[in-house]
Amino acid sequence: MVQTGLDSDRSTQSNWGVAARQTTLATVVDRKGIGLHSGLATTVTLRPASPGQGRFFVRTDLPAQPSVAASLAAVNPTVLSTELRQGDASVRTVEHLLAALVGLGIDNVRIEITGPEVPLLDGSALGWVEAIRQAGRQELEAFRTVAHLEQPVTIHHGDAFVAAFPAPVTRFTYGIDFEVAAIGNQWFSWSPSADPFGPEGFATTVAPARTFGLAHQIEQLRASGLIQGGSLDNALVCGEEGWLNPPLRFENEPARHKMLDLIGDLSLLGSLPAAHIVAYKASHRLHGELAAALVPALTYGTL
Ligand SMILES: [Zn+2]
Repeated sequence: MVQTGLDSDRSTQSNWGVAARQTTLATVVDRKGIGLHSGLATTVTLRPASPGQGRFFVRTDLPAQPSVAASLAAVNPTVLSTELRQGDASVRTVEHLLAALVGLGIDNVRIEITGPEVPLLDGSALGWVEAIRQAGRQELEAFRTVAHLEQPVTIHHGDAFVAAFPAPVTRFTYGIDFEVAAIGNQWFSWSPSADPFGPEGFATTVAPARTFGLAHQIEQLRASGLIQGGSLDNALVCGEEGWLNPPLRFENEPARHKMLDLIGDLSLLGSLPAAHIVAYKASHRLHGELAAALVPALTYGTL
């Protein structure tokens, strides 16, 4: 069988299999929690949406309940998380939830939120995966588009880079390099279409990887008003002597978490392109720059 992308296999009929039709959630589900940076408690309610609406947030705590599209046009550059802003309304730290939605093939969803930041939950996307599975997936009477890349796209800042290469299927490769020995140099490569756990491999292979940070940076970040909601319960913390809160879920959990962030950030394109995306020592900012550079380079078709 020749595969051409995440959703290329028309013959797969299972509810969670890949399909050429657009999807939404079958029912409504909600989750509560604390935001990593703001420390504020919010509730996220995921609701079904119509074909073509895409993934979008609604700030239900604000007058007039403004919408914020989960699209590149709404990205507000930030350092340690991805923020979306439309008019006066913003939603922060959207990447893990968006990665879970695109990773499980949910194209259209109304994401109601009662505050400015998506809950961090346990620092991974596992809680969102469980919520999406609880809601169930519903196919819609509309077809997906699939994006292909004809020419490589590369962006680098110093020795950090992001690149996308033409490929028949979606593949991600992520490398990180930290001085602390417990992290060091790690690489992880993954393709949704080649995952041993099948089309839902995202849930097993990428989603469980948690947010991580360095112990010596924590005080500085706290002092600058960041990570007010971070704790040893929702982030792996690494010191000179090793991890403060082991065990890890994977030997290369940090590299897998960076891939989770990348998938969430690239979901702002609407769908994950058929391309090999390679990132090294990258950041949300570089992920966003790659996504923006991909827009004119992609060609779209239906399956
Ligand atoms: Zn993250």
